[in-house]
Amino acid sequence: MPSALKNISEPDSALLLQWEKVSLDLIKEFGDAAFKSWLKPLVVLGFQQRKLILAAPSRFMRDWVNAHYANRICKLWMSMNSDIESIDIIIKAPIAATAENKIPATVKTPVESEDLGETLEREAMGAALDSRFTFENFVVGKPNELAYAAALRVAESAKPLFNPLFLYGGVGLGKTHLMHAIAWHIKKCHPDRKVIYLSAEKFMYQFVRALRFKDTVAFKEQFRSVNVLMIDDVQFIGGKETTQEEFFHTFNALVDNNHQIIISADKSPADLERMEDRLKSRLGWGLVADIHPTTYELRIGILQAKAESMGVEIPKEVIEFLAFKISSNVRELEGALNRIIAHATLVGRSITVDTTQEVLRDLLKANDRRVTIEDIQKRVAEYYNIKTSDMQSARRLQNIARPRQVAMYLAKILTSRSLPDIGRKFGGRDHTTVLHSVRKVQEIYLNDKEFADDVDILKRSLET
Ligand code: ADP
Ligand code: MG
Repeated sequence: MPSALKNISEPDSALLLQWEKVSLDLIKEFGDAAFKSWLKPLVVLGFQQRKLILAAPSRFMRDWVNAHYANRICKLWMSMNSDIESIDIIIKAPIAATAENKIPATVKTPVESEDLGETLEREAMGAALDSRFTFENFVVGKPNELAYAAALRVAESAKPLFNPLFLYGGVGLGKTHLMHAIAWHIKKCHPDRKVIYLSAEKFMYQFVRALRFKDTVAFKEQFRSVNVLMIDDVQFIGGKETTQEEFFHTFNALVDNNHQIIISADKSPADLERMEDRLKSRLGWGLVADIHPTTYELRIGILQAKAESMGVEIPKEVIEFLAFKISSNVRELEGALNRIIAHATLVGRSITVDTTQEVLRDLLKANDRRVTIEDIQKRVAEYYNIKTSDMQSARRLQNIARPRQVAMYLAKILTSRSLPDIGRKFGGRDHTTVLHSVRKVQEIYLNDKEFADDVDILKRSLET
């Protein structure tokens, strides 16, 4: 063990949870591509005299993170944990992920040579594959069925069917998962085929490094000799002209030799920004498959599969609550599930909608659908043909009181406002009145089909 690692206290789950939260902020700030390349490979080692110790897999990575991200990481972390005064990043060689040794998300690292000057091994050109990202673990639904089917076909076929396969969609919708799944499948069924998976950022980094060490011949050789090349998050090379040029040549060489290329991006080829036209058109040559944002049903499916694979029983209402509230992307959904499971294990309490709401307060706020209570009041009043001001009034006539109750109910389920908050917006009513209204609506909903339809229509109209 290097001497720097002595007297270090191991990270506990609270620290790892904090890292998850810091990571979410970092993704938001710096984007997915930068996060994947530089920040995700960092491993939390623990504490040493109020110093948080992180490990980077190579000197280059460490220096880069120190120069570009360390201050921000430190600030974010300090805001959550007052024990931390500074951070220190050391170099520690990574363990490569294989199908056999399952490595938890927090210690996943790309395989990379330790030193800048070293000659690269061919394997070192790619990044490690996440053992969880397989076809078996991918939940298929309407939004991703085309991408899934295309990925599976490409993985199973010996000859390129569509070249390239271009997968695109928003952050956290499963692009990387599908690419890793293709790689795992080929490794298993055609172990003789050479597959390289890496991010476009890493491609650029390797290329720049090759230029710097006058090693471009070897660089070209290595990339052009693979059977399957996968480049993730290609939008990253937008504006990077020299890299685009090199990528374009690599691309052509591979296609000419009938080797498969798989690309992912956050936008369709035509919409990629600051990308050369000839490259854009090349990228659109094969099959372009988009992954749409998740639907409620798909989110339910993913949560169920995930809970099952973790061997944890999660109540149906909690699954539904999460699927309803967290609509942004699958990564956040998984993060939320991990957090509530970690919390339940730590404090030894069972998982309920209430504890979920408590544990995920910050996340739920960020995912708030931004429907305001005013929007709800207005829409409900219109629907039932009453005055919006009646939402605040004291009138108790059934044809006014009932819509008001519906509005309170919708405010409760569609916003993250508390009961007292909601009460205040309804003419200063007490939180028990709000609670009573919510229960009343739930009760009638179950017994009165027409009423239930009204509520559903209103709910849907407010959600979109
Ligand atoms: P992207 O590359 O599109 O940003 P990822 O592939 O990294 O997204 O997916 C983010 C997380 O969500 C990963 O942990 C992945 O396993 C999970 N995920 C995404 N889509 C699915 C799905 N359909 N089924 C199961 N897990 C999924
Ligand atoms: Mg990705």
